Amino acid sequence: MHELSLAHALIKSVIREMTERRIARVTTICVRIGPLSGIMTEALAFGFESLRSDTPLAATQLRIEESPAAAVCQRCAHTFPLDEPVFSCPECGSEDLRISGGDDLHIAYLEVENVCV
Ligand SMILES: [Zn+2]
Repeated sequence: MHELSLAHALIKSVIREMTERRIARVTTICVRIGPLSGIMTEALAFGFESLRSDTPLAATQLRIEESPAAAVCQRCAHTFPLDEPVFSCPECGSEDLRISGGDDLHIAYLEVENVCV
């Protein structure tokens, strides 16, 4: 399952972050996934919950937010949110658009406790 390996990679990168930044405890991980990523949020949450038990993240909550997709006009470089299917640039009317964002997963922020400096 794709989401299970994503959850695994997520846990690994957060644990690496904890080590590097000497974070004692992460209470919440917030990730943003794009609507075009094809990632099923429920499957990702399930994967995280089934993998976190033997890790320092056993009590960590996973918050999943959807990040909006955006389109970039190739003619005038205007960037606009892609809330609904758009086929031309609202600025210049060009139909030469490139989709940016919305197809990825990234960690938005971590809520942590007991940060040692
Ligand atoms: Zn344009």
